Amino acid sequence: MWTSLRKGIHVFWRPMRLKYQQKSHLSMSDFVPECPPANPYHVEQLQEFVSQFHRLFVITGAGISTESGIPDYRSEGVGLYSRTERRPIQHAEFVKSEAARRRYWARNFVGWPQFSSHEPNAAHIALCKWERSGRLQWLVTQNVDALHTKAGQCRLSELHGCTHRVICLGCQKVIKRSHLQERFLSLNPMWNEQAHGIAPDGDVFLTDEQVANFQVPVCEKCGGILKPHVTFFGDTVNQAFVISLYEHLNQADAMLIVGSSMQVYSGYRFALKAKEKHLPIAILNIGPTRADHLASVKVHARCGDILPHILLLDQFSAIESQVKK
Ligand SMILES: [Zn+2]
Repeated sequence: MWTSLRKGIHVFWRPMRLKYQQKSHLSMSDFVPECPPANPYHVEQLQEFVSQFHRLFVITGAGISTESGIPDYRSEGVGLYSRTERRPIQHAEFVKSEAARRRYWARNFVGWPQFSSHEPNAAHIALCKWERSGRLQWLVTQNVDALHTKAGQCRLSELHGCTHRVICLGCQKVIKRSHLQERFLSLNPMWNEQAHGIAPDGDVFLTDEQVANFQVPVCEKCGGILKPHVTFFGDTVNQAFVISLYEHLNQADAMLIVGSSMQVYSGYRFALKAKEKHLPIAILNIGPTRADHLASVKVHARCGDILPHILLLDQFSAIESQVKK
Protein backbone atom coordinates (compact mmCIF):
# COMPACT_ATOMS: atom_id res chain seq x y z
CA MET A 1 0.00 0.00 0.00
CA TRP A 2 2.79 2.37 0.90
CA THR A 3 4.43 2.06 -2.52
CA SER A 4 1.22 3.19 -4.19
CA LEU A 5 0.89 6.10 -1.78
CA ARG A 6 4.37 7.26 -2.70
CA LYS A 7 3.19 7.78 -6.29
CA GLY A 8 0.72 10.29 -4.92
CA ILE A 9 3.49 12.08 -3.06
CA HIS A 10 5.59 12.56 -6.18
CA VAL A 11 2.63 13.85 -8.16
CA PHE A 12 1.84 16.26 -5.37
CA TRP A 13 5.28 17.62 -4.64
CA ARG A 14 6.29 18.75 -8.12
CA PRO A 15 4.25 22.00 -8.02
CA MET A 16 5.19 22.45 -4.36
CA ARG A 17 8.86 22.85 -5.20
CA LEU A 18 8.06 25.63 -7.63
CA LYS A 19 6.05 27.35 -4.96
CA TYR A 20 8.99 27.31 -2.52
CA GLN A 21 11.28 28.86 -5.10
CA GLN A 22 8.83 31.65 -5.77
CA LYS A 23 8.32 32.29 -2.07
CA SER A 24 12.04 32.57 -1.35
CA HIS A 25 12.15 35.80 -3.40
CA LEU A 26 9.31 37.45 -1.51
CA SER A 27 9.96 39.81 1.39
CA MET A 28 9.73 38.11 4.77
CA SER A 29 8.05 39.08 7.96
CA ASP A 30 10.19 41.04 10.40
CA PHE A 31 9.85 38.20 12.88
CA VAL A 32 10.44 35.11 10.76
CA PRO A 33 14.10 34.03 10.43
CA GLU A 34 15.69 33.78 7.00
CA CYS A 35 15.15 30.31 5.61
CA PRO A 36 16.18 28.73 2.31
CA PRO A 37 13.59 26.71 0.38
CA ALA A 38 12.79 23.42 2.12
CA ASN A 39 14.56 20.30 0.93
CA PRO A 40 11.84 18.43 -1.01
CA TYR A 41 13.22 15.08 0.10
CA HIS A 42 12.86 16.06 3.76
CA VAL A 43 9.33 17.32 3.12
CA GLU A 44 8.53 14.01 1.49
CA GLN A 45 9.83 12.24 4.59
CA LEU A 46 7.53 14.36 6.74
CA GLN A 47 4.62 13.52 4.44
CA GLU A 48 5.37 9.82 4.88
CA PHE A 49 5.63 10.31 8.64
CA VAL A 50 2.23 11.99 8.91
CA SER A 51 0.67 9.36 6.63
CA GLN A 52 2.13 6.50 8.60
CA PHE A 53 1.15 7.60 12.12
CA HIS A 54 -2.46 8.33 13.00
CA ARG A 55 -2.37 9.45 16.62
CA LEU A 56 0.11 12.29 16.59
CA PHE A 57 1.24 14.06 19.72
CA VAL A 58 2.16 17.53 18.44
CA ILE A 59 4.09 20.13 20.40
CA THR A 60 4.36 23.67 19.04
CA GLY A 61 6.56 26.63 19.93
CA ALA A 62 7.16 30.26 19.06
CA GLY A 63 8.17 29.36 15.49
CA ILE A 64 4.56 28.69 14.55
CA SER A 65 3.46 32.16 15.69
CA THR A 66 6.19 34.31 14.13
CA GLU A 67 4.28 34.08 10.85
CA SER A 68 1.35 35.73 12.64
CA GLY A 69 3.64 38.66 13.51
CA ILE A 70 4.58 37.63 17.06
CA PRO A 71 8.35 37.68 17.68
CA ASP A 72 10.04 34.80 19.46
CA TYR A 73 12.88 35.07 21.96
CA ARG A 74 15.66 33.05 20.39
CA SER A 75 15.64 33.24 16.59
CA GLU A 76 18.91 34.44 15.17
CA GLY A 77 18.72 38.04 13.99
CA VAL A 78 14.97 38.53 14.50
CA GLY A 79 14.24 37.14 17.98
CA LEU A 80 13.93 39.40 21.02
CA TYR A 81 17.31 38.28 22.42
CA SER A 82 19.05 39.19 19.17
CA ARG A 83 17.36 42.54 18.64
CA THR A 84 17.29 43.98 22.14
CA GLU A 85 18.86 43.90 25.59
CA ARG A 86 15.46 43.12 27.08
CA ARG A 87 14.83 39.85 28.89
CA PRO A 88 11.45 38.49 30.04
CA ILE A 89 10.40 39.09 33.63
CA GLN A 90 11.32 36.40 36.16
CA HIS A 91 8.58 34.84 38.28
CA ALA A 92 10.27 35.72 41.60
CA GLU A 93 10.73 39.36 40.55
CA PHE A 94 7.04 39.67 39.64
CA VAL A 95 5.86 38.15 42.92
CA LYS A 96 8.23 40.10 45.19
CA SER A 97 8.39 43.55 43.61
CA GLU A 98 5.44 45.93 43.32
CA ALA A 99 7.55 48.18 41.09
CA ALA A 100 8.30 45.25 38.77
CA ARG A 101 4.59 44.39 38.58
CA ARG A 102 3.70 48.02 37.83
CA ARG A 103 6.29 48.11 35.04
CA TYR A 104 5.12 44.77 33.66
CA TRP A 105 1.41 45.65 33.64
CA ALA A 106 1.97 49.16 32.24
CA ARG A 107 3.81 47.70 29.27
CA ASN A 108 1.33 44.87 28.96
CA PHE A 109 -1.57 47.36 29.05
CA VAL A 110 -0.10 49.36 26.17
CA GLY A 111 0.76 46.29 24.12
CA TRP A 112 -2.50 44.43 24.68
CA PRO A 113 -4.67 45.90 21.90
CA GLN A 114 -2.13 44.93 19.25
CA PHE A 115 -0.96 41.68 20.85
CA SER A 116 -4.48 40.38 21.38
CA SER A 117 -5.43 41.14 17.78
CA HIS A 118 -2.98 38.67 16.20
CA GLU A 119 -4.67 36.01 14.13
CA PRO A 120 -3.78 32.33 13.59
CA ASN A 121 -1.91 31.58 10.39
CA ALA A 122 -2.04 28.73 7.88
CA ALA A 123 -0.03 26.43 10.16
CA HIS A 124 -2.44 26.81 13.09
CA ILE A 125 -5.38 26.21 10.78
CA ALA A 126 -3.74 23.11 9.27
CA LEU A 127 -3.27 21.55 12.73
CA CYS A 128 -6.90 22.27 13.51
CA LYS A 129 -7.89 20.40 10.35
CA TRP A 130 -5.73 17.46 11.43
CA GLU A 131 -7.69 17.37 14.66
CA ARG A 132 -11.02 17.38 12.83
CA SER A 133 -9.75 14.52 10.66
CA GLY A 134 -9.13 12.50 13.81
CA ARG A 135 -5.38 12.41 13.30
CA LEU A 136 -4.28 14.36 16.32
CA GLN A 137 -3.97 12.59 19.65
CA TRP A 138 -3.18 15.85 21.41
CA LEU A 139 -1.56 19.22 20.84
CA VAL A 140 0.63 20.84 23.47
CA THR A 141 1.71 24.40 22.82
CA GLN A 142 4.48 26.26 24.59
CA ASN A 143 2.98 29.52 23.28
CA VAL A 144 0.88 31.87 25.39
CA ASP A 145 -0.73 33.76 22.49
CA ALA A 146 -4.06 31.84 22.20
CA LEU A 147 -3.62 31.42 18.44
CA HIS A 148 -4.40 27.67 18.50
CA THR A 149 -7.59 28.43 20.42
CA LYS A 150 -8.50 31.17 17.95
CA ALA A 151 -7.97 28.66 15.13
CA GLY A 152 -10.54 26.37 16.79
CA GLN A 153 -8.22 23.72 18.28
CA CYS A 154 -9.93 21.69 21.02
CA ARG A 155 -7.56 18.81 21.83
CA LEU A 156 -5.16 21.38 23.19
CA SER A 157 -3.12 22.08 26.32
CA GLU A 158 -1.29 25.35 26.87
CA LEU A 159 1.84 24.19 28.67
CA HIS A 160 2.83 27.67 29.85
CA GLY A 161 -0.68 29.09 30.20
CA CYS A 162 -2.18 31.91 28.16
CA THR A 163 -1.87 35.69 28.24
CA HIS A 164 -5.60 35.97 27.56
CA ARG A 165 -6.28 34.87 31.14
CA VAL A 166 -5.29 36.45 34.46
CA ILE A 167 -5.07 34.67 37.81
CA CYS A 168 -5.23 36.02 41.36
CA LEU A 169 -2.28 34.81 43.41
CA GLY A 170 -4.46 35.10 46.54
CA CYS A 171 -7.67 33.20 45.73
CA GLN A 172 -6.64 31.59 42.39
CA LYS A 173 -9.67 33.09 40.61
CA VAL A 174 -9.10 33.28 36.87
CA ILE A 175 -10.53 36.14 34.81
CA LYS A 176 -10.31 37.18 31.18
CA ARG A 177 -7.44 39.49 30.28
CA SER A 178 -9.85 41.61 28.23
CA HIS A 179 -11.84 42.34 31.40
CA LEU A 180 -8.67 43.58 33.10
CA GLN A 181 -8.04 45.99 30.21
CA GLU A 182 -11.28 47.77 31.06
CA ARG A 183 -10.18 48.14 34.67
CA PHE A 184 -6.78 49.49 33.57
CA LEU A 185 -8.54 52.09 31.44
CA SER A 186 -10.83 53.24 34.25
CA LEU A 187 -7.94 53.49 36.73
CA ASN A 188 -5.62 55.26 34.28
CA PRO A 189 -7.83 57.57 32.21
CA MET A 190 -4.99 59.95 31.30
CA TRP A 191 -2.47 57.27 30.54
CA ASN A 192 -1.91 57.14 26.85
CA GLU A 193 1.53 55.88 25.97
CA GLN A 194 2.31 54.30 22.65
CA ALA A 195 3.79 50.82 22.19
CA HIS A 196 7.34 50.68 20.88
CA GLY A 197 7.74 47.07 19.83
CA ILE A 198 6.03 44.02 21.25
CA ALA A 199 7.65 41.00 22.92
CA PRO A 200 6.43 37.37 22.72
CA ASP A 201 4.36 37.71 25.89
CA GLY A 202 2.66 40.95 24.88
CA ASP A 203 5.18 43.12 26.71
CA VAL A 204 6.27 46.47 25.20
CA PHE A 205 9.04 48.95 25.91
CA LEU A 206 8.52 51.90 28.27
CA THR A 207 10.85 53.81 30.61
CA ASP A 208 10.53 53.82 34.42
CA GLU A 209 9.42 57.46 34.30
CA GLN A 210 6.57 56.57 32.01
CA VAL A 211 5.23 53.83 34.29
CA ALA A 212 5.74 55.60 37.65
CA ASN A 213 2.12 56.74 37.94
CA PHE A 214 0.46 53.69 36.43
CA GLN A 215 -2.28 52.22 38.66
CA VAL A 216 -2.50 48.43 38.83
CA PRO A 217 -5.82 46.87 39.91
CA VAL A 218 -6.03 44.09 42.49
CA CYS A 219 -8.37 41.07 42.59
CA GLU A 220 -12.00 42.22 42.92
CA LYS A 221 -12.79 39.21 45.10
CA CYS A 222 -9.93 39.17 47.64
CA GLY A 223 -7.64 42.14 46.92
CA GLY A 224 -4.83 39.79 45.89
CA ILE A 225 -2.08 40.28 43.32
CA LEU A 226 -3.12 39.73 39.70
CA LYS A 227 -0.74 37.87 37.40
CA PRO A 228 -1.04 36.72 33.81
CA HIS A 229 -2.08 33.06 33.82
CA VAL A 230 1.25 32.07 32.32
CA THR A 231 4.37 30.35 33.59
CA PHE A 232 7.01 33.05 33.81
CA PHE A 233 10.69 32.24 33.46
CA GLY A 234 11.99 30.85 36.74
CA ASP A 235 8.65 29.24 37.61
CA THR A 236 7.83 25.57 37.03
CA VAL A 237 4.95 23.84 35.30
CA ASN A 238 2.59 22.00 37.67
CA GLN A 239 3.71 18.35 37.90
CA ALA A 240 0.17 16.91 37.90
CA PHE A 241 -0.47 18.83 34.66
CA VAL A 242 2.69 17.38 33.11
CA ILE A 243 1.65 13.86 34.11
CA SER A 244 -1.76 14.37 32.47
CA LEU A 245 0.05 15.34 29.27
CA TYR A 246 2.25 12.23 29.52
CA GLU A 247 -1.03 10.28 29.45
CA HIS A 248 -1.80 11.81 26.07
CA LEU A 249 1.71 10.93 24.94
CA ASN A 250 1.05 7.35 26.06
CA GLN A 251 -1.93 7.23 23.70
CA ALA A 252 0.05 8.59 20.75
CA ASP A 253 1.92 6.62 18.10
CA ALA A 254 4.37 9.37 17.13
CA MET A 255 5.47 12.88 18.10
CA LEU A 256 5.80 15.94 15.88
CA ILE A 257 7.65 19.06 17.02
CA VAL A 258 6.54 22.22 15.21
CA GLY A 259 8.31 25.59 15.37
CA SER A 260 10.32 25.01 18.51
CA SER A 261 14.03 24.86 19.25
CA MET A 262 13.06 22.86 22.38
CA GLN A 263 15.59 24.82 24.43
CA VAL A 264 13.26 25.07 27.42
CA TYR A 265 13.20 21.85 29.44
CA SER A 266 9.46 21.98 30.14
CA GLY A 267 8.90 21.24 26.45
CA TYR A 268 12.02 19.18 25.81
CA ARG A 269 10.98 16.63 28.44
CA PHE A 270 8.19 15.45 26.12
CA ALA A 271 10.76 14.60 23.44
CA LEU A 272 12.76 12.67 26.04
CA LYS A 273 9.62 10.85 27.19
CA ALA A 274 8.68 10.04 23.57
CA LYS A 275 12.14 8.60 23.00
CA GLU A 276 11.87 6.58 26.19
CA LYS A 277 8.65 5.08 24.82
CA HIS A 278 10.30 4.42 21.44
CA LEU A 279 7.92 6.78 19.66
CA PRO A 280 9.19 8.10 16.32
CA ILE A 281 9.84 11.86 16.35
CA ALA A 282 9.69 14.35 13.47
CA ILE A 283 10.67 18.03 13.64
CA LEU A 284 9.57 21.00 11.53
CA ASN A 285 11.58 24.06 12.51
CA ILE A 286 13.90 26.71 11.10
CA GLY A 287 17.36 25.96 12.47
CA PRO A 288 18.73 23.37 14.90
CA THR A 289 16.81 22.12 17.92
CA ARG A 290 17.79 20.48 21.18
CA ALA A 291 15.89 17.35 20.08
CA ASP A 292 17.51 16.91 16.64
CA HIS A 293 19.43 13.82 17.77
CA LEU A 294 16.17 12.18 18.85
CA ALA A 295 14.33 12.70 15.55
CA SER A 296 14.11 10.47 12.49
CA VAL A 297 12.72 13.27 10.28
CA LYS A 298 13.82 16.91 10.26
CA VAL A 299 12.49 19.64 7.96
CA HIS A 300 14.11 23.09 8.00
CA ALA A 301 11.29 25.38 6.90
CA ARG A 302 8.63 27.84 7.93
CA CYS A 303 5.65 26.05 9.47
CA GLY A 304 3.09 27.85 7.31
CA ASP A 305 4.93 26.82 4.14
CA ILE A 306 4.74 23.13 4.96
CA LEU A 307 1.84 22.08 7.21
CA PRO A 308 -1.04 23.22 4.97
CA HIS A 309 0.42 21.09 2.16
CA ILE A 310 0.81 17.86 4.13
CA LEU A 311 -1.92 15.50 3.00
CA LEU A 312 -3.83 13.22 5.33
CA LEU A 313 -4.59 9.63 4.39
CA ASP A 314 -8.07 10.26 2.97
CA GLN A 315 -6.64 13.01 0.76
CA PHE A 316 -3.96 10.57 -0.38
CA SER A 317 -6.63 8.10 -1.40
CA ALA A 318 -8.28 10.76 -3.55
CA ILE A 319 -5.00 11.56 -5.31
CA GLU A 320 -4.21 7.88 -5.72
CA SER A 321 -7.52 7.26 -7.45
CA GLN A 322 -6.90 10.24 -9.77
CA VAL A 323 -3.45 8.86 -10.64
CA LYS A 324 -5.00 5.50 -11.53
CA LYS A 325 -7.55 7.18 -13.84
ZN1 LIG B 1 -8.36 36.94 44.59
